[in-house]
Amino acid sequence: RLGIGYNRAASLVERVSAPVTAAGHELYVTPSVGVSIFPNDGQDVHTLLRHADMAMYQAKASGRRCYRVFSSAMERAAAEKLELEAAMRRSLEREEFMVHYQPQVCLNSGRVVGVEALLRWNQPQMGFVLPGRFIPLAEDTGLIVPIGEWVLQAAAAQQQRWRARGLPQVRIAANVSARQFWQGAVVGTVRQLLARGLLSRGSLEIEVTESAVMRDVAQTARLLEALRELGVVITVDDFGTGYSSLAYLRQLPLQKLKIDQSFVHEIGVAPGADRLVRQIIDLAHAMGMTVVSEGIESAEQLRLLQAWGCDEGQGHYFARALRAE
Ligand code: C2E
Ligand code: MG
Ligand code: MG
Repeated sequence: RLGIGYNRAASLVERVSAPVTAAGHELYVTPSVGVSIFPNDGQDVHTLLRHADMAMYQAKASGRRCYRVFSSAMERAAAEKLELEAAMRRSLEREEFMVHYQPQVCLNSGRVVGVEALLRWNQPQMGFVLPGRFIPLAEDTGLIVPIGEWVLQAAAAQQQRWRARGLPQVRIAANVSARQFWQGAVVGTVRQLLARGLLSRGSLEIEVTESAVMRDVAQTARLLEALRELGVVITVDDFGTGYSSLAYLRQLPLQKLKIDQSFVHEIGVAPGADRLVRQIIDLAHAMGMTVVSEGIESAEQLRLLQAWGCDEGQGHYFARALRAE
């Protein structure tokens, strides 16, 4: 009986997906189907529907035009997500997030020229939660906007403390996620920090990913231009892992390109990797951009990157992300 049910779901998806012609136009519908089965997945209509709904969202998340069958693992995952989200909200209120700083080194002089601000979350009950786990969820739920704001403010405050202690000024690079960028509040925040004297011009760098800026050229250019006018350096993070159009990148006011660590790790290991990294460096220079390599772990990687003219570097070879002190 279950087999027949799944076949029906599959054929339903197929039939609904077929194009329909209406008034000379071809119209497409993309169905996502969630299945729950009585009595295992629920004893009453309400529960069955709720579980089918959960399965449907899973179908959507899997790229749509498919069906998914409810499982108790789905419910557990959903509950975990809710818990994590609630914990993030609490931690934001109680200031339980922290920022660690990873040095960025000029490969010519060997000097530390900047630091990347990396978010750290030590949740009282769950312990240390990795950004790879909570950042995507923060993006999904929109919490990344207030969290990202907080990071910018924390970074500015830290810079002030360093300045007050008479330490040389280093630029702080903060990661700005797509959602935070598009929401547009970053410009306002930076303007405010500058106006209140909490940030000095040229001391902030913003890292955006290719996919974040590859959406709407006019709007992206406007936002980036506004940031640049405020003296913010703009870097494309994780270069090479997303989709970018070179024609498009050239039109944007981007000053730096950060080669993704997956390429750096393959230097001297994977065939062709060296040539690829070299060419990314040349390409960035041809577009008038500074090049940073992230994830440098060995002296050999460093030596080659220096030989290829890479401008700056960051990675465990120099230092991990550290507490401000
Ligand atoms: P990312 O911006 O590409 O940051 C680089 C990541 O590589 C960091 O991981 C860093 O600790 C790690 N890393 C640095 N050097 C090395 C190395 O030599 N070897 C290896 N294996 N790894 C190295 P982390 O801190 O876990 O952050 C992961 C990602 O989370 C970041 O990737 C960034 O996309 C995101 N993230 C972190 N903080 C923030 C934030 O404040 N806001 C937003 N929107 N995203 C953040
Ligand atoms: Mg980054
Ligand atoms: Mg990166």
